Amino acid sequence: MSTLPGKLELIVGPMRSNKTAELLRRIETRREYANQYVMLLKPSADTKAAAGLVESRNRNGCGKMQAVEFYSSNPWPVLAAIAATEQKIGKRIECIAIDEGQFVSDLFLFTKRLLEAGHDVMVSGLELDFRGLPFGEMLDLSWLVRMYPGNITELVAYCACGAKALYPQRLVDGKPAPYASPIIMAGDFYEPRCAEHFVLPGLPH
Ligand SMILES: [Zn+2]
Repeated sequence: MSTLPGKLELIVGPMRSNKTAELLRRIETRREYANQYVMLLKPSADTKAAAGLVESRNRNGCGKMQAVEFYSSNPWPVLAAIAATEQKIGKRIECIAIDEGQFVSDLFLFTKRLLEAGHDVMVSGLELDFRGLPFGEMLDLSWLVRMYPGNITELVAYCACGAKALYPQRLVDGKPAPYASPIIMAGDFYEPRCAEHFVLPGLPH
């Protein structure tokens, strides 16, 4: 008998759109009301909170939650951790939640593998990097949402001018970071901005 594939819930939006708070809320709901086992995964490139912990910046949100941490560059060892946990709890893990999906290598294939193994998957993350270009494989996941019936939730953040902000503006010492700076930078600071106020010095094209 083949396993019925899981469903994919994608939570996207720029910085400060409460993606992590929304992910934690959905995990709590599944645990509390649906009696599901939800495993929360955290890529090692996410340095927002302490190791093994996912934390929302939203003060009204669920706050912190324990997570299974893995190397962003290689999510595959997580499959063994899932199998070991299922052995221990004596049932299938109903849902796998991934925070900061943009940092995860092989995200498309890894998510597909989880869905095919019958897990529901929830992924939150940034679609665009500080240059306004696709970040990791987050945008690719929208194809999986069509393939394995699921949904995309677009969370909104606002620019200081009041318009909807789609771009993550990276600021270094209060100034817009140049195009040539690294994609992942420790201690970087972001501000959500609209297209009109998004500034990217040194753009080659
Ligand atoms: Zn603006």
